[in-house]
Amino acid sequence: MLPQNVKRRGVMFVLSSASGAGKTTISRLLMDIDPKIHISISATTREPREGEIDGIHYNFLTREDFIKKIANGEFLEYAEVFNHMYGTLKAPVEEILNKGEDVLFDIDWQGTRQLREVARDDIVSVFILPPNLIELENRLRKRAQNSEEEIKYRMSRAMSEISHYDEYHYVVVNYEIKDSLQRVQSILEAERMKRRRMSGLRDFVSNFTKNYDCNKK
Ligand code: 5GP
Repeated sequence: MLPQNVKRRGVMFVLSSASGAGKTTISRLLMDIDPKIHISISATTREPREGEIDGIHYNFLTREDFIKKIANGEFLEYAEVFNHMYGTLKAPVEEILNKGEDVLFDIDWQGTRQLREVARDDIVSVFILPPNLIELENRLRKRAQNSEEEIKYRMSRAMSEISHYDEYHYVVVNYEIKDSLQRVQSILEAERMKRRRMSGLRDFVSNFTKNYDCNKK
């Protein structure tokens, strides 16, 4: 809880990991238990898949609209993936941060790099590492009936993602989901209390110092 008239700017909270290391599970659990953090909804030009809802899974845009928004500088970051455009719009993120709430980004190291370039002060980044690569391989095998080729491909992508762990503010080794979730929550809680994210503290402190007399009997 913050004193009246003390406001905090929200955090852009980035979670990255190799696929299979637990990032998506941790993100979901964090969203379930913390009403003050909201997942960032990307914009894309690809068609909605079955069950996907506009405004919930993605903001689905036409290519023309997307290009217009790029030209207007409306994106924090964007990229072309498999012939479709994907990106993060500035306005909804800004609205949440200004309310003193936080935005969760489940993105890879390249997206994180781009965000850092445009929003360095707002970003808190956490890299989730698997305990070891054998464990990661087992998780990928369990997750789906991936072919040997697919597993090899995913493991090489995982290793390349992992090589960027040292670009992040925090690292959590995911031995056990509950424990990792607690660590991630602690990071978020501490970052929320960073003095530089708060405004109105000077008035709050000077109000009670000016009304207190040290020499009173
Ligand atoms: P899908 O079409 O399967 O939902 O996503 C394909 C890829 O698009 C994902 O692997 C993800 O990395 C990328 N992607 C999704 N949203 C964004 C975004 O907002 N920005 C960027 N740069 N890539 C995204």
